[in-house]
Amino acid sequence: MSRIDDLPPLRDVIAAHGLRAKKSMGQNFLLDLNLTSRIARASGPLAGASVLEVGPGPGGLTRGLLAEGARRVLAVEKDERCLPALAEIAAAYPGRLEVLSGDALDVDVTARLDRPWRVVANLPYNIGTELLVRWLTPRDWPPAWESLTLMFQKEVAERIVAAPGSKAYGRLAVLAQWRSEVRIVLTLPPEAFAPPPKVASAVIHLTALPEPRFPADADVLERMVAKGFNQRRKMLRAALKGLAPDIEDRLRAAGLDPTERAEQVPIEGWCALARTLG
Ligand code: SAM
Repeated sequence: MSRIDDLPPLRDVIAAHGLRAKKSMGQNFLLDLNLTSRIARASGPLAGASVLEVGPGPGGLTRGLLAEGARRVLAVEKDERCLPALAEIAAAYPGRLEVLSGDALDVDVTARLDRPWRVVANLPYNIGTELLVRWLTPRDWPPAWESLTLMFQKEVAERIVAAPGSKAYGRLAVLAQWRSEVRIVLTLPPEAFAPPPKVASAVIHLTALPEPRFPADADVLERMVAKGFNQRRKMLRAALKGLAPDIEDRLRAAGLDPTERAEQVPIEGWCALARTLG
């Protein structure tokens, strides 16, 4: 295996710092530094980039990002056991890595990174979707980030890129594709991780569009889509009943058939409906 830096192999780092993976922290570590460099590169050329990494763990992806030339990486890690290993990486790349100890759901990173920053992360599966939805639903657009390069369970990645009419199409697809370009860039088998998870994983890459594809209020759209897909087998008029007493008229005004189901409605249709409700 070729070396990407002068730091020890990740297996040695994990052994030296006693980083036995904890399930409760969603820890499935990547040990192949060629692979982590490849994931880093999937975010685009890194020279000069400011990057937010959530959950660096023993630092495989962090090292990939730095070796590929990221100017600055801010890494937020909840498991304090990982901090000494991350401090060694920071020392090897002076002034380029800042590690924040804490929960990524609580820390505010906006003041710590130059805009636009990108996110590159092998996310802990238990908070991945919540973080993604937060990044996708700021009130103002374009957001502070320019791109998101994120590892998810393959099944979740497929939901993010799904097209209308498919079983995987739902809230995540609408929110992600409304204001971003999305694609799956890499699929990984369980054996790529230590310990191996039960399912395959995939890296998705989202690029923020300069403007939403169709006008709509983000909060209204988010609430409406959540409701619509919560009861995806029902017709729209029933699934969305609580939103407005005259929901059937509003559906028709938006050009939608009240007897359709949520998974048949393209993003344009959801935005048109959001405009009648906003
Ligand atoms: N980036 C490393 C890699 O690719 O090998 C580790 C990825 S592992 C799937 C997820 C990481 O997120 C772990 O290091 C875990 O401790 C960390 N983590 C879990 N919950 C977190 C949270 N709420 N905030 C920040 N980090 C968290």
